[in-house]
Amino acid sequence: MSLQEYPLSGGDRRFLEARIESRTLPQTLLLEGGAEERRHALALYLAAAIVCTGNGARPCGICRACVKCKAHSHPDIQLYAPEKKGSTFKVEVCRAIRQDAFLQPNDGVCKVYILEDSQAMNDSSENALLKILEEPPAGVYFILTCDSRSAMLPTVLSRATVVPLLGAVSAFSEQTLETACALAVAAAGGNELAILRESASLEKAREEIRQVLLCLSEIFAAALKQKSGGTAEEAEYAEAVGQLVHTLTKPKIYALWKNVQALTASAEHNANLNLLLTGLCYRLRQATEN
Ligand SMILES: [Zn+2]
Repeated sequence: MSLQEYPLSGGDRRFLEARIESRTLPQTLLLEGGAEERRHALALYLAAAIVCTGNGARPCGICRACVKCKAHSHPDIQLYAPEKKGSTFKVEVCRAIRQDAFLQPNDGVCKVYILEDSQAMNDSSENALLKILEEPPAGVYFILTCDSRSAMLPTVLSRATVVPLLGAVSAFSEQTLETACALAVAAAGGNELAILRESASLEKAREEIRQVLLCLSEIFAAALKQKSGGTAEEAEYAEAVGQLVHTLTKPKIYALWKNVQALTASAEHNANLNLLLTGLCYRLRQATEN
């Protein structure tokens, strides 16, 4: 295992490697963007690196702590997330974490709290955490993950070291990428017929719709980033991103991204499949209309 497997910029990777090596990782990290599964995997990797008791490269993968990490049974690594997709991150949970952080670790000398989807925290939840993030007890680490730092309170952000994940390494199948790119290009060109044709290929395939929505969300986010002066990433969907950036204004790309986020939420909530597809066509079209 190494950080090479994760979609990080060279600078961020070297930063994390050096800090793991010297056991000086920041006590509050915010992993931002990229694919959700990669963020999750990186959070677990970093947590393992923190609790690993090996002497060489960490996580060593073989010490007692690493073995427990692999089995997801390390008592000093705690993972929290909103109860379900789209729900808020409860303030009670944040308060409980704040109290728990002062208790001694069970096994070693470090404790790690992984807080996933922290963009789902409302202001009171974030404020409940703020105090402990300001002065975390020695050996206590917080790894927050979020879609975008823009959803976090500035006070929380100022306490965290943000590590952005690149969207470039995607876990999407070729079929998913193809459909999502075609839909993005069709949306860019306002091509209603192409939108209908591409979305028709998704009938009866709920999981595929979900994947396509996630991929579309990455594409629109990459286009937004580029439109805001960010550098283009080498991604399989670079061409679709290029078309969006070339054809649409920033507010329109943002509208597309927002619409896809909303649809992803309904896809998670078992919405009727046909309605979901109709919604997809409507929202892709609507976002680009004048
Ligand atoms: Zn180890």
